[in-house]
Amino acid sequence: MPKKSTEDSENSRARYTLLTLFRREPILLEFAMSDTLIEETLLESPAQLPYYIEGKETGFPSIHATVSQTESGTYFLTKPGVTLLSKPQVHLLNLAPFLEGFDPALGFSDYLEDETPLPDAAQLCKTAGQLCYASFGPKRTQNDNASRYFRNILSSGHGSVLEHANFSFLFYGISRSVTHELVRHRAGVGFSQLSQRYVSGAVLRFVERPEYQNDEELHRLFVERIDHAAHDYARIADALLARQKTGSEILSGEAKTDLRKKVQQTARSVLPNETEAPIVVTANVRAWRHILEMRASPHAETEIRELAFRTYLCLAAADPVLFADYKTVKLSDGTYGVETETEKV
Ligand SMILES: Cc1cc2nc3c(=O)[nH]c(=O)nc-3n(C[C@H](O)[C@H](O)[C@H](O)COP(=O)(O)OP(=O)(O)OC[C@H]3O[C@@H](n4cnc5c(N)ncnc54)[C@H](O)[C@@H]3O)c2cc1C
Repeated sequence: MPKKSTEDSENSRARYTLLTLFRREPILLEFAMSDTLIEETLLESPAQLPYYIEGKETGFPSIHATVSQTESGTYFLTKPGVTLLSKPQVHLLNLAPFLEGFDPALGFSDYLEDETPLPDAAQLCKTAGQLCYASFGPKRTQNDNASRYFRNILSSGHGSVLEHANFSFLFYGISRSVTHELVRHRAGVGFSQLSQRYVSGAVLRFVERPEYQNDEELHRLFVERIDHAAHDYARIADALLARQKTGSEILSGEAKTDLRKKVQQTARSVLPNETEAPIVVTANVRAWRHILEMRASPHAETEIRELAFRTYLCLAAADPVLFADYKTVKLSDGTYGVETETEKV
């Protein structure tokens, strides 16, 4: 049976989240930059969202996942862990010499006097977009109207300005099946995934699908399966190592690393799709939006939808302006997704 202590803490986090949603004020305070947008997103759905977003006060939100162990000691996770590692930082003052180089009557220097701060990613995209029309003077859209500015960008399909802002996440507690789907997204996305060739069985963990988690028999079968998989992996790795030492040609290699890779790249053939595959994903906002729309959709597979929905919650917490058009939907299978009227900008 899995250890329960960490699950209890997840439950208490979920209860905390529900309270937070009902009370509303903490959320509004924490998203002081664009309160109404987040309020709309959350309140659009009457569903109670059982998520605890950590780190909002730092601007780097996470929804972490707990780790359990079988009685035999095999590690497994039941939910995706999503943690924001990086986001844009903007230094608008560097525009000053550029803005001062135009006719003072245009009032371009006024651009730096805007008193409404925006999240850096939104500011970067807005500034990039405003450069296109030299919209730096007093008649430009001010930051307090940024939501209207981005509604126009989205509805007119001018998505290229969203390509300036990149967000990097570590995803863990996700299966190799999910990362296989995730890496199909090519445009504007970068990946670094744990190498099953380089890394040994010491970091082997597995992911339990939601369908198995509340079913005694399916959970028991999962536990049996991952214990066997971990055991099989260790056994085949030992057997390969023994053959390597006695001179097997196909397992031979020059450097120590090559030798290890030769063993591990072969031994991984026994690992199931439910093996965990941690990955760092960097994408620009245009690409993230496309990924959310494809993967937090009712048509997406359940595990990747959970990952995409958590990613959406973290992105919306980090930058409430750029993801303000998304609405949370509760799907008939009890999972959550997002939808927007301005798809694929
Ligand atoms: C529900 C669902 C089911 C799926 N089922 C299958 C399946 O059965 N089999 C399968 O193989 N895949 C399947 N996929 C994967 C899907 O076909 C895409 O490969 C994946 O969603 C990546 O999306 P994308 O092609 O939009 O690429 P992204 O890289 O996310 O690209 C974003 C956009 O940029 C443009 N773009 C990117 N690259 C190019 C290019 N080379 N040329 C021109 N325009 C480009 C396109 O407009 C594209 O939509 C499925 C995806 C989903 C969401």
